[in-house]
Amino acid sequence: MTRYEPADSFETPRFSDVRTFMRLPNVRGLDNADVAIVGAPFDTGATFRAGARFGPEGIRAISHLLRRHNPSLGVTIFDYLSVIDYGDVPVVPGYIEESYRRIEEGLRPIHEAGVVPIVLGGDHSIALPELRAAASVHGPLALVQFDSHPDTWDSYFGKKHTHGTPFRRAVEEDLLVPERSIQVGMRGSIYDENDWEDARRLGFDLLSTDEVRELGIPKTIERIRERVGDSKVYVSFDVDFVDPAYAPGTGTPEIGGFTSREAQELVRGLAGAEIVGCDVVEVYPAYDPAQITALLAANIAHELLSLVALARKAAAS
Ligand code: MN
Ligand code: MN
Repeated sequence: MTRYEPADSFETPRFSDVRTFMRLPNVRGLDNADVAIVGAPFDTGATFRAGARFGPEGIRAISHLLRRHNPSLGVTIFDYLSVIDYGDVPVVPGYIEESYRRIEEGLRPIHEAGVVPIVLGGDHSIALPELRAAASVHGPLALVQFDSHPDTWDSYFGKKHTHGTPFRRAVEEDLLVPERSIQVGMRGSIYDENDWEDARRLGFDLLSTDEVRELGIPKTIERIRERVGDSKVYVSFDVDFVDPAYAPGTGTPEIGGFTSREAQELVRGLAGAEIVGCDVVEVYPAYDPAQITALLAANIAHELLSLVALARKAAAS
């Protein structure tokens, strides 16, 4: 049986070849794949800076640095997973609802094939079609969202679909189980003192950055684990969760955030969860000196991939 794994960087240098995620084969078919890396190069949902359409290519370019073994989680990814870079889902720049249709239709067959998609964004508006595709196969999901914004506003500029609204829409469409979902990392100035309370009223648990600081990382992980229980989980990682010192290349940066190290620890804390899909979003390469943010995003995707591998490892033993 074909197993898909990265090119051997002891044989050919990592700066060579067409840039796919981690030097994986670019395969547009789902046979013999366990995980598919999928780009969603869409940024029409952005409300401030634009440019996340180049996020997938930016993440792929620096991802050639990533290696097969994750020593922190104790797993050699490709011993347990066959992984492809599926390429990108189709989008229509400037047309959000048409793009939503195409993104959902592009992702649904991946879920139907039992393959776990790791989506590289794109602005955070893509979370809605991602969740539509995932829930159509798996039913309503637990959400773990790392972000400095809840993205649960009702509308922006009178419009229901932007990168500030996907999680309210997802609750309205019964794509999520809010009682099993948690948003982590909220901070910064907000429009209204009730903005975060509104997210809690939708049913989400919400931890601000200040609250995570008070709790500490291990207790925060406990809180997340208890919240999701044994539900099927969708992990959505907005890189603005991390401080702009570590992730400047993003659309709506908020200072006073987490280090890249803390972000890794929190994501690793999901070991054992049943992840059926995930994303890393809001990378804007034009604002990203020295590929800092893309490198963070590539490494977070690597942690998520490691978690899926770890689940297979546990199931195999
Ligand atoms: Mn977001
Ligand atoms: Mn955000």
